[in-house]
Amino acid sequence: MKKNIIAGNWKMNNGLTETIELIAALKPLVKDAEAEVAVCVPFTDLAVAKKALKGSKIKLGAQNIHWADKGAFTGEISGAMLKELKVDYVIIGHSERRQYFGETDATVNARLKAALKYDIKPIVCVGETLAEREAGKVEEVLIRQTEGAFADIDKASLKNIVVAYEPVWAIGTGKTATSDEANDTIAIIRKKIQKLYGSPVAKALRIQYGGSMNAKNAKELMAKEQIDGGLIGGASLKAVDFSQVVNYNA
Ligand code: PEP
Repeated sequence: MKKNIIAGNWKMNNGLTETIELIAALKPLVKDAEAEVAVCVPFTDLAVAKKALKGSKIKLGAQNIHWADKGAFTGEISGAMLKELKVDYVIIGHSERRQYFGETDATVNARLKAALKYDIKPIVCVGETLAEREAGKVEEVLIRQTEGAFADIDKASLKNIVVAYEPVWAIGTGKTATSDEANDTIAIIRKKIQKLYGSPVAKALRIQYGGSMNAKNAKELMAKEQIDGGLIGGASLKAVDFSQVVNYNA
């Protein structure tokens, strides 16, 4: 049985004190969660967050990883560094990285390989922009992004990978894909994975929905056959809001 995974993406929010406070508030609220829970925090918060998470089942995630082991890459963080901090998950190819920092399908693929090499579970983000949806290009874009991200990734690695379908127009905008839209679009990604790796692997792959998911819409989205959890931005910054998403079934 695959377990849903609900991960908070804090983005560039929360310093050390806020990290300690938010995690302390969150721990009791999600202690009985059915889903796997993770918080993906800024690099500077990772060590403090790891300590604060002690005694809970909440996993720790980073928000990026460089593809090289070490070297002259000013401002970047390697898989070895993340591993030393005992990071469980890492977000790769978030649309904000693609939009503002020149992330491409090729760099997503390189980062994915680095995460797997260091035994850190990647959360690989894909999703179309509004212009692409309006131009009827959703399928084309998602197939391109999925093929690009998974180039040369072997079948055995798939069990350690999570995919997040995040329509760019729904991120931080308050607009959510309808549950049917999200379900149907995730089905496109899963079909591509099925073509690449076969049906059992595609069925077992956890694919999250992300884009303005909150306490009000989580239950309906999560009830959909194709949706195996959520990547949560805004609503992950308050303990009660995030816990309500995590405990969507309660
Ligand atoms: C995200 O950043 O991955 C995200 C889904 O953000 P929000 O929930 O704020 O739309």
